[in-house]
Amino acid sequence: MVGPHTLRDARGVVYDLTTASPRWISQRIRFDAQQLAWQSTMSTRQDARGMEHGVDHTSIRNAIKKARASDPEWGHLAEKMVKGGFWAEDRLRRAGKAESQQCCYCDCDHADLEHLLWECPRWEEARAAAGPEALLAQDARRTDRVGFCPMMWLRGIVPWKDAYGPLALAEEAEVSVGSLSPRQDVVWTDASGMHPKDHRKRACAWSMVWRGGHLRGPLPGEQQSVFRAEL
Ligand SMILES: [Zn+2]
Repeated sequence: MVGPHTLRDARGVVYDLTTASPRWISQRIRFDAQQLAWQSTMSTRQDARGMEHGVDHTSIRNAIKKARASDPEWGHLAEKMVKGGFWAEDRLRRAGKAESQQCCYCDCDHADLEHLLWECPRWEEARAAAGPEALLAQDARRTDRVGFCPMMWLRGIVPWKDAYGPLALAEEAEVSVGSLSPRQDVVWTDASGMHPKDHRKRACAWSMVWRGGHLRGPLPGEQQSVFRAEL
């Protein structure tokens, strides 16, 4: 809190509480609290690296829910992986539960979670059938597309950075055709938004149309809502 009528979020964006929507403010507070909780595990775990850029927790929750609905056991395993509770050979050895890091499925003698998920030939078929999200993680691991981000390729956690965020969508660009004549007194205005139910992805635009021309542009700023765009 930086004043009786203003609020500053974790990224330093200041909101005027007399004009900002209470729903938006509560979403921001909840989002910041969740991000802080994720980031607090960063200092102790290597597989949490990448959380410094934020976490898209909604995608993970939806993916676990979907996995659980199709097969409860598979859902349980997916949740365990996301929480970092799956112990591969290297971790078992560190904990004194195994004498070597020998892979159970191939002759690799330094098996860890990265080996099991991405390198072990035993799981080649499962890897090929894993779907587009797994391909994204594989691509991120190979190409450094999202930086050093083991939380994505070892735990399936999607980074917030490069995934979503209204700030990245609101470009300050207007497109206009023709000009308004004082004699043409009828102007229609409207606004609409993509992904209206998901505040993470919501992006809105406005437009004005008159006989012979129009003016349109994206809604600037953090709070993307159709109501604001209509103003
Ligand atoms: Zn192996």
